Amino acid sequence: MAENLPSQEQPEEISLEEDEKRRLEQEWLNFSEANKMLRFLENQEIVVSDRQARLLAISCCNRLNDLLDDRSKKALEVAELYADGNANIEDLNEARRIAREVLSNLPFDENGSIDLGSIELTATQQALEAINCSLDASARLFLGSAIIRSNTAFAYAYDKNQSKDKANSYSVNLLRDIVGNPFAKEPIVFDENWRTSDVLAIAKGIYEEKAFERMPILADALQDAGCDNEEILNHCRKDLNTSECSHVRGCWVIDLILGK
Ligand SMILES: [Zn+2]
Repeated sequence: MAENLPSQEQPEEISLEEDEKRRLEQEWLNFSEANKMLRFLENQEIVVSDRQARLLAISCCNRLNDLLDDRSKKALEVAELYADGNANIEDLNEARRIAREVLSNLPFDENGSIDLGSIELTATQQALEAINCSLDASARLFLGSAIIRSNTAFAYAYDKNQSKDKANSYSVNLLRDIVGNPFAKEPIVFDENWRTSDVLAIAKGIYEEKAFERMPILADALQDAGCDNEEILNHCRKDLNTSECSHVRGCWVIDLILGK
């Protein structure tokens, strides 16, 4: 039938499967809430690893640094080491014990509630709860709570309107930095030839020193190695001054290069 139509009127032939893929990608790109995205991934049987979940929870907490004392910051550092296998479960549990202690030392009233009249206290409590989620043995199970708690803390602490929108978009961007776009039309295949000693050294340095301002240098090195994948190059070159959030440990491009 289609052969009889003049060529300019021929509809683009899209298989049902392809059509479904495009629909999923569109839905994925439109999300503005991290927890909805996590549920969506789960429904599509796309697994966020425990390491990714922990790194995401930690980066949600890291933006609350001003609310945290040294013990809480140290606990987050242990969680980060644990995510990469550089601390053991005993270290994690000890960090969690300390984080719980910090939380329980907040001034609760006789009913065990925090004084909700105090915005700063509420923000701190939510931040500490989020840290405790990041320190759980199963980060994946508690990721949703870590996101909600840290968003609430952020809204209380930094947003005069106490709106969660800004906090929300921040956690969405963090999630996108870590999982990338699992529904991309062309799945990204990393060519072994791009993994030159230069590329590896730069990526390793960025990861270890959290020197994400060097991402454009990584893009140049990748290009020198022959990488022409626009998704990868554009991701490295996204403008950190205008973009709502930077790269974090767990960034999908760095992970791809380092094979994490
Ligand atoms: Zn990134």
